[in-house]
Amino acid sequence: MISEKMKELVAGSSIIRAMFEEGKLMSTKYGSENVYDFSLGNPNVLPPAHIITAINEILVEEEPNLVHGYMNNSGFESTRDALAKSLNKKYNQQLSCNDFVMTVGAAGGLNVILKTLLNPDDEVIVFAPFFGEYKHYVSNFDGKLVVIPPNPPTFMPNLDAFEKLITHRTKAVIINTPNNPTGVVYDIETLQKLGEILTKKETEFNNSIYLISDEPYREIAYDNINIPCVLDFYQNTFIAYSYSKSLSLPGERIGYICVNPDINYKQDILQGLNVANRILGFVNAPSLFQKVIERCTDITSDITLYNQNRDILYKHLISLGFECSYPEGAFYLFPKALIADDKQFCQDAKQFNLLLVAGSAFGCSGYFRISYCVSNETVVNSLDAFTKLANLYK
Ligand code: PLP
Repeated sequence: MISEKMKELVAGSSIIRAMFEEGKLMSTKYGSENVYDFSLGNPNVLPPAHIITAINEILVEEEPNLVHGYMNNSGFESTRDALAKSLNKKYNQQLSCNDFVMTVGAAGGLNVILKTLLNPDDEVIVFAPFFGEYKHYVSNFDGKLVVIPPNPPTFMPNLDAFEKLITHRTKAVIINTPNNPTGVVYDIETLQKLGEILTKKETEFNNSIYLISDEPYREIAYDNINIPCVLDFYQNTFIAYSYSKSLSLPGERIGYICVNPDINYKQDILQGLNVANRILGFVNAPSLFQKVIERCTDITSDITLYNQNRDILYKHLISLGFECSYPEGAFYLFPKALIADDKQFCQDAKQFNLLLVAGSAFGCSGYFRISYCVSNETVVNSLDAFTKLANLYK
């Protein structure tokens, strides 16, 4: 029989994943062109041509035992070296290859960081709405999730509430900008203030409090908006990066952790991350894709499609009377539902073959998420279904 803890996890398993499966069933029943599946953040844009070229070149040019073999659990030194050079140039940092650990996506990176940091009952703060999996990642290591309530309509973090909820048990804080599900980007002032609060609280409690910046959407930002580098605002910072979205490679499971070179207990932390990567069973990030990243550090997918989808959907939703903040990054919209019960609202949407995710899945009831990393055709064809949905409540 499976464990009690796993029974609970299975029972509460991801609503988003369940909807993804439901979408596939609906497509078989109604034809995929008649189903508007906005449930999963699975990029529709192809990986850049450079990626395919790099894969082919590596397979021909490099030593197979090296490409497909084990390496240091933190990853190939040459890959980490290339990343350090790339980030130093882009963000004016002083990083070296030792400040990086290659990971199995951001999900792998976050679990490795939390495994390294948490003692039982340590508190990890998140800002609602938040990526629902954080709950599980924290409970994997017997930590306690502390949720800062949502701050509509801007959904910028409520820093007053944050300051009040930091305790002597706070071990880490997870932020995610550009944000899933709101598309909000934290500006310099917000990050500065956040860093100041953490520094003050570290002194007050005589503890290290670690900031974990979850950044799968760092490269998906519109209208030339500036995405500040979090390392500039706080010493005890980790970045958990992923290529799932920025290079449209979610199935390849590749990402990295970058630590602030001045992080407290640096050697312990780097050793901890290395061992955590191994004993969580990842052992190391996929070797071929580490090599691919090494050759493609400065490449990102073309986000023109997302930008178009964002504008078409946003305009249509506003014209129908939805309240929604204009997303500056990622590929999600997070409008207010037209009834208080967001789960019922998403249930109602299904009659028009619209698959939407209830805000409750992100700790923010009364809202819903639209993932618009889909084809432009799906977006355009879905507009009528959104109109019919809005008319239900008139
Ligand atoms: N963090 C956030 C905010 C996400 O939206 C996702 C995936 O959707 C992840 C982490 C996990 O991404 P990865 O595929 O890199 O594990």
